[in-house]
Formats: sequence, structure tokens, C-alpha cells
Amino acid sequence: SAALAARLADAASPRLRTLFNLTGTVLHTNLGRAVLPAEAVQAVTHALTAPVNLEFDLTAGRRGDRDSLVESLIGELTGAEAATVVNNNAAALLLLLNTVANRRDVIVSRGELIEIGDSFRLPDLMRSAGARLVEVGTTNRTYARDYAAAIGARTALLLQVHTSNYAIHGFTHSAAAPELAALARMHGLPFAVDLGSGTLVDLARYGLPKEPTVREAIEAGADLVTFSGDKLLGGPQAGIIVGRADLVRRIKRNPLKRALRVGKLTLAALEAVLALYRAPEFLPERLTTLRLLTRAAAAIEAQAQRVRPFVQAALGDAFAVAVVPLASQIGSGAQPVETLASFGLAIRPAQRGARIERLETALRALPQPVLGRIADKTLWLDLRCLDECDEAAFCTAWDGLLP
Ligand SMILES: *Cc1c(COP(=O)(O)O)cnc(C)c1O
Repeated sequence: SAALAARLADAASPRLRTLFNLTGTVLHTNLGRAVLPAEAVQAVTHALTAPVNLEFDLTAGRRGDRDSLVESLIGELTGAEAATVVNNNAAALLLLLNTVANRRDVIVSRGELIEIGDSFRLPDLMRSAGARLVEVGTTNRTYARDYAAAIGARTALLLQVHTSNYAIHGFTHSAAAPELAALARMHGLPFAVDLGSGTLVDLARYGLPKEPTVREAIEAGADLVTFSGDKLLGGPQAGIIVGRADLVRRIKRNPLKRALRVGKLTLAALEAVLALYRAPEFLPERLTTLRLLTRAAAAIEAQAQRVRPFVQAALGDAFAVAVVPLASQIGSGAQPVETLASFGLAIRPAQRGARIERLETALRALPQPVLGRIADKTLWLDLRCLDECDEAAFCTAWDGLLP
């Protein structure tokens, strides 16, 4: 029967599926964050199907260091002396703190004690790393003198955290990185910055909201900077630590590094993505994340007009489909307040008994699920992340809806 065939097909299909992310959030943590460019896919395929010099120095003919595969490229793009790569940015911060601040104090502003997603709370992570948190300042205002007053014999580190997923407005102050760098230097302490998103180029040149770059943090005097590989950088899941060679060397020697290191697939993809940054003028074409973020609203609107008839035909008279302006978010904690002008489809019930929740459930059950957002009895599908090469597949996906 049809039901049995459907169950067999479901059992045979992989649990990890590709889907249409029409939520309006480009870097969606629950949907795998960055979509990688073809160059990265090719590098991963090569690394998967043949032996590679993962930890072998081809020049010297002896054992090598896997970080050296990307270290010089990262140095070139950030101005940092040294770099090491781990599983994600949480791991990067854990490793950094455990290396430089185990059983010692780390001074952080109260306004920067963030929670990201449902699994990353900075104070909890610090405790797991063995570091003691010393909070200074207030939620909205913290000055360099607050850090200075907290420095004592047990202090190991000054830490600044990019408050990536929220913004405080109004009567606010935070100490500038160069002030903290100078203060740390005066006391012979390292100063670290957790940037979160870690952009390698100034996004303002592509018309996007400004995000602090890794190079700016290094130039401001940070001794160590941590950031994610799969947020605005647009690469594979990874955490990258850059900074002073002596500190990075200590971090690499920490036994935890062995537990947190990345594999050849991550390094292959990361190297390919980083290489694209050497030609920043082509980045919006080549780097998928940036291509999606920089899509013009007019192009998305034209696409919405093209796909609307297919969606309306599949839904019949039960629902009304309209092209509407929408606002996309970058996601993954970058620019929580600013949005990108976009377009999409608004689907509303047009007949008694037509339920928007039932439609949303059916769309999630498609072989290639369609994910949108329900609000005000309307299903909103933001088309920013519908790459033009996936448009035909999207139009036919709706035929799979059972009447
Ligand atoms: C996202 C983020 C993290 C965690 O990074 P993961 O790569 O998700 O582990 C840590 N700090 C900041 C500021 C972030 O934005």
C-alpha cells in the first residue's frame, strides 16, 4: 500500500537530510550554520578518498603538526603570529582558559557574561575550564578602572567577550580593547578576546552591518583571540585560537588539545574556505554564506514572484500565497538587532478547515523538508537562503504534499 511504501522509503532515507532553510536566519545553529562553497566540498572529497599529509611534514620528511596546514594562511588573513584549530569556539575558549587560567582568576565585565543557544553559558564554561570568574562593572557600564581595581595576585587573564547575541542601548559603556590591552601589559597579564563570529574581512565593504574583525582585535592589542569557523567566516564547524606565538605554543601543549583537535575533513574544508579570502573582491560570489547575506532584496522579490505560482498551485484553494517583504537575520549571534531587507511568501488559510499548523507539519515531512516560521496564523517563508540553483527543486518539492 501507499502507507507501507512511504514507511519503507522513510526507513531507507538518511536521518541527516538536506532541507530548505526559509526561516529567515542565514546562519541557523539548528540547521548546521554555514553552507560551504564548492571549493571546500572538493577539498573534503579529496581528503576523504586518499591518504593526506595531515601530520606529516613533506619538506622535512618527518612527523608534522596538523595546525601548520592552515596556520600561515590564518596569519596572513589576521596578522596573528600563531594559530591553532579545535572543534568549535566553545572548545577554543575552554582550552584557552584551562591553559592560562586554571585555578586562577579571569576578569570579565558583568555585561559580557553571555548565554548562547541553550548550551553555552560563559560562567559555566569558565568553571569547567577550572578558571575562577571575577565579575567587574555593572550590566550596562564597565570601565577599564573596574578591571584595574580587580587585578590581584591570583589574576591570570583579562577577557573581553563579544556580546554577540544581544545589544544594550542607552546609558552604556564598555572598556575599549586597547585600554584593556595596555592595562594587561602593565601588569604582565595576557588579554584575550572572544569574538564569537570572527569575521576576517570588513563586512561593511559588501554593504552589510559592521562586525569587528579578527585583525582589528589583534591590532587593538589582544594577545589571544577566539572565533568560530562556521559563523560569518562561512567554513566548517571549528574554533580558532590566534595570537602570540608563546601563548599559542602553551595552548597546543595542553593535553586537552588532543581531545579537542579537529580531523582532516575540517582542516581540508577550512583551508579551502580561508584560501577564498585571499581575493576578497570575489568573496560575495564564491563564499556561499556571503552570497546569501548579500543577495539584493529585488533579486529575492523576483524569485518570490517566480516560485509563488508553483506553491499556490500545489496548495489549491485551501491557502492563499502572497509575495511579501521580510527581514532576514544573519544569525549565530552576529548582529542581533540589525536585519537584512528580504522577500518571501506569506501563506494564510483561505478556506474553513485549512490549518496553517497542519501545512507546516506536512512541509517538515517532505523528502526535502521546507522550514519556515509561523506567526499570526501565517506561514512565512523567507527566500533569502533559496539559492537560485535550488529553485527548481523547491518548486517541485511542493508536489510531494498529500492533498
Ligand atoms: C557562538 C559563540 C560562541 C560559541 O561558539 P561555537 O562555535 O558555537 O562553539 C562563543 N562565544 C561567542 C561570543 C559566540 O558568539
